[in-house]
Amino acid sequence: MNINAEELEIMTQFVHGLCINDGRKFSNWGLSRSTQPAVYVEPISYADVQAVVRNTAQFPTPVRPIGSMLSVTETVINDGGTLLCTRKLDAILGLEVDDCGRQVVRVQAGCRLKKLNIWLQQQGWEIPFQAEIGEATVGSVSVGDTKESSLDGPGYFSSHVVAILYIDEYGSLRILSDKQDDAAFYEFTCSFGLSGIVVECLIEVRPASLCRANVTLHAYSSPQALSDGILQLREQCDALLAVVILHQLACFSEQRYRTDVTDAALNSSPLQCEQYRLAKRQAIQHGFDGSHLPQPQGIVFPRSDFVNEYWQPEEAENRLDFQYYEHDIGMFGRVIGESYRFTKSFEKNTGFVPTGWATYFVYRPEKERKPFGIYSGGSGISCSFDPIYCNPNEPLWQRFAKEYNRVAIDTLGGNASPIQTQWLQPGDVSIPRKLARERFTSPYYQQFLV
Ligand SMILES: Cc1cc2nc3c(=O)[nH]c(=O)nc-3n(C[C@H](O)[C@H](O)[C@H](O)COP(=O)(O)OP(=O)(O)OC[C@H]3O[C@@H](n4cnc5c(N)ncnc54)[C@H](O)[C@@H]3O)c2cc1C
Repeated sequence: MNINAEELEIMTQFVHGLCINDGRKFSNWGLSRSTQPAVYVEPISYADVQAVVRNTAQFPTPVRPIGSMLSVTETVINDGGTLLCTRKLDAILGLEVDDCGRQVVRVQAGCRLKKLNIWLQQQGWEIPFQAEIGEATVGSVSVGDTKESSLDGPGYFSSHVVAILYIDEYGSLRILSDKQDDAAFYEFTCSFGLSGIVVECLIEVRPASLCRANVTLHAYSSPQALSDGILQLREQCDALLAVVILHQLACFSEQRYRTDVTDAALNSSPLQCEQYRLAKRQAIQHGFDGSHLPQPQGIVFPRSDFVNEYWQPEEAENRLDFQYYEHDIGMFGRVIGESYRFTKSFEKNTGFVPTGWATYFVYRPEKERKPFGIYSGGSGISCSFDPIYCNPNEPLWQRFAKEYNRVAIDTLGGNASPIQTQWLQPGDVSIPRKLARERFTSPYYQQFLV
């Protein structure tokens, strides 16, 4: 078959995946944000993504990629633009050794973290980042903000990514890697999809390991005792996740320890693990609305088991909503003190308190490896102290979150995230203009460009 250049040009604009342009709305997981794009598209090949980006007439600017739409902020809003969902580009393409001799997994951008974790576990490998959220997609977390208290890992997903294949603003397929592109690669991992649409990643893996955990409820007499207590709990273990009930000065701690197969044989407790996993998943799904949490001691498990799936909630159902702020660990005492003061005063005036505060600890790399956004303060340890509630649409929660932004960002100097901190104002987050291509930049992101 002979085709001329003009026909070839037209053919590269065909999209085989689903396209919906009937004006319907799409909502995030928590049903707190909805958007009405001109077109919603589900590419089934990289060529489809390229065709969408090239065809500005059929697919209006901005083109914003989405994965599972779990994000709580307006990052998912794209009224009148093109919403490009990667869910059908979700193949795990296999394990390989890269040019530097590192064991890596090659995976497509729409793959969910639970699927990837199970697959790796079956092959005897794992990624150190094993956050509770199994629905988040590889593409989103390789260029977005994440947090978790990892065992032997920094605690944010993009730190494990070594190469990214993406579609640029001209519709060309490009590759960036840490070893060959250095600064350009690390900048891309801070780009929230503004520099291009990720279609495939290479992620460094390590042999699968086991974790031992103790879960305990603690009560304290003052904010100072609470912050000292949490830092002490962290010192005692290899990684700590704490959920603080701030107005009551109490805290659930999950102390995580590295463990080996010998320990596992001695302490194996699959039933206790499963009971705890299910209770924890229920608590997260429902936004810590008072569900009972068991306090198992010495449970041993692969952490990938605790990467959970969450069902799509109904409007009337309790569901997780949260805010995110990063601070240096040296600020932890002040963060607890000021947050306690603000929370008690808000409670006195309105009767409202958040259901909990999630506390993670993340190791920051040198500035070159995380040039912008959260964790970009150079080597050190960060903590996050994140209020949680069980209904994103509750007006008092929204007011609390907006007013607390001023405490966390202005008074405490915390860093916020455009995908994990709601109700941000221009100036609260700064994204270098050089990272943003017009084709991929929505009004929400426009306001943060500097
Ligand atoms: C119940 C629940 C629990 C959670 N727990 C955690 C947790 O423990 N740790 C944590 O860090 N976060 C957690 N989160 C937040 C969540 O992980 C992040 O918001 C994550 O980015 C969501 O992934 P997603 O695929 O749904 O992204 P989406 O919400 O669909 O997209 C987010 C943004 O990512 C970008 N993006 C998406 N796909 C691509 C792509 N292919 N290329 C380029 N850019 C892209 C776009 O800017 C998009 O706007 C939780 C959220 C919920 C609802």
